[in-house]
Amino acid sequence: QANERESMYLVSEYAQKYFSEILWDTELGKAIGLSYFKERGFTDETIKKFSLGYCLDNWGSFTNAAIEKGYQLKYLEATGLTIVKEDASNAANTKMFDRFKARVMFPIQSLSGRVLGFGGRILTNDKKAAKYLNSPESDIYHKSKVLYGIYHAKQAIAKEDNCYLVEGYTDVIQFHQRGIENVVASSGTALTPEQIRLVNRLTKNITVLFDGDAAGLRASLRGIDLILEQGMNVKVCSFPEGEDPDSFAKNNSLEDVQLFLKENSKDFIQFKASLLMKQAANDPIKRAETVRDIVNSIAKIPDRIQKEIYIQECAQIMNISEAVLFNTLAQIGKKDE
Ligand code: ATP
Ligand code: MN
Ligand code: MN
Ligand code: MN
Repeated sequence: QANERESMYLVSEYAQKYFSEILWDTELGKAIGLSYFKERGFTDETIKKFSLGYCLDNWGSFTNAAIEKGYQLKYLEATGLTIVKEDASNAANTKMFDRFKARVMFPIQSLSGRVLGFGGRILTNDKKAAKYLNSPESDIYHKSKVLYGIYHAKQAIAKEDNCYLVEGYTDVIQFHQRGIENVVASSGTALTPEQIRLVNRLTKNITVLFDGDAAGLRASLRGIDLILEQGMNVKVCSFPEGEDPDSFAKNNSLEDVQLFLKENSKDFIQFKASLLMKQAANDPIKRAETVRDIVNSIAKIPDRIQKEIYIQECAQIMNISEAVLFNTLAQIGKKDE
């Protein structure tokens, strides 16, 4: 079993090198893949740092190259790099496809830097095709346990004692290029407790940076309680409508990005309260819902003293007596038992 996994690691590492070589050393790779990354504003140095690549637009040149090199089809299939279509009536008709055909490639690395899987992006903004495709779950790639960028971010997370959590690959990469390295992405999955645990070993502070759209808002609201449950501090920073951390960092200087993060990061109570203010500040029913929503989040915090501090803050911001909030908190506690 350990040997099987090792073989999967090896073929993934080979794939990463192959896709990078295509990107840098072939005419098609340069004309299509490399120019795509350059258009997004990535420098050579950045493209190399994140080992980005390109998978050619044909059915099997990666798979064929790997097999020629002696990698076994079973590991290519187990990692999802190759899709095998068998013909039950005629074994000679078995066909092999490169899963990531015609996509630019983002290798996903473990904490220690091993390649576990890939994200691949189409080059157009064609709404019909899935924009990003990820490696399937496998014995080496458990998407709920991985954070994109953790290998390149771990030192900075510990040093800054804070971790920025973003949605996508390009958000991580653009932040690095701008000079902010304590950043990771959940990449295509809703945030999981295991992913938060990975960060928890490096810092107790997470700032969720979400895209300025409805999906981003929903994702960050879901993330808050999971982070609180692990006794961590969570701040939230939203980007202007239509922007994400990638576009914002691409178009602003390091000073401006840092200033923006500083001025717009709110703790989760302020964040939830200000959402309400935007919607219906004077509607007592909505206000009550918001208060309950905030107290529900506070109930997730394991530490009693922390809980109390947040109750005080909530009382102030929402202009409600602490006694009422403590009562509500107690009721939630009873419901859970
Ligand atoms: P880009 O800037 O390249 O257009 P993005 O990173 O801003 O992409 P979003 O649409 O904001 O993409 O989505 C955030 C993340 O969710 C992506 O980085 C990717 O990991 C994942 N994702 C997006 N679309 C898909 C999809 N169709 N299938 C699987 N995962 C996806
Ligand atoms: Mn988005
Ligand atoms: Mn985005
Ligand atoms: Mn984007």
